[in-house]
Amino acid sequence: MNPGIWRLAADPCPRPTLFLDRDGVIIEDAHYLSSPADVRLIQGSAEALAVAAAADWRLVCLTNQSGIGRGYYTEAQFHAVQTRVDELLAARGVVLDGVLYCPHDPDAACGCRKPALGMIEAAASKIIWSSGSVMIGDKVADLDLGRGAGLTPMLVRTGKGADVEQAGLQRGAVVYDDLAAAIVHVLGGGRP
Ligand SMILES: [Mg+2]
Ligand SMILES: [Zn+2]
Repeated sequence: MNPGIWRLAADPCPRPTLFLDRDGVIIEDAHYLSSPADVRLIQGSAEALAVAAAADWRLVCLTNQSGIGRGYYTEAQFHAVQTRVDELLAARGVVLDGVLYCPHDPDAACGCRKPALGMIEAAASKIIWSSGSVMIGDKVADLDLGRGAGLTPMLVRTGKGADVEQAGLQRGAVVYDDLAAAIVHVLGGGRP
């Protein structure tokens, strides 16, 4: 089973790369989001991504979408939501270089559902990222994917992140209020 690829242009030039979760990081976490009308950007996320892109960071979103495999919404509905995300980001001057998604049910043991590395492996067949690249997410699975892929894991308090922090499950990952704060830190050259 392979991950879905919404967008990923081949780019053999090694660049620093922000790997990003989508729900709860770029857009508000909505339970099994299936309607474009329900897409809301988290305040400041698009602007921060635009600043990162201007600093030549590559932006790659990795999102678990088990709602497809569970039959809660169709792949076409996911595409409609993703189109809306693209529109909202484009209105603020930023385009995600890559969007990969796992459409599978958790019981499928697919190998691409975070924290499994399938989406990172698919990305690695098309792009090269430099050391210092990071994984920003709001769940333990995002942090574990980052660790497994040799990326610096960063937790944001938006989405489910505050709950993860409160439960003490970040296991050494640095915690930021939101994506904008994490990106300020990354672009400042600071080590978490
Ligand atoms: Mg999330
Ligand atoms: Zn999968």
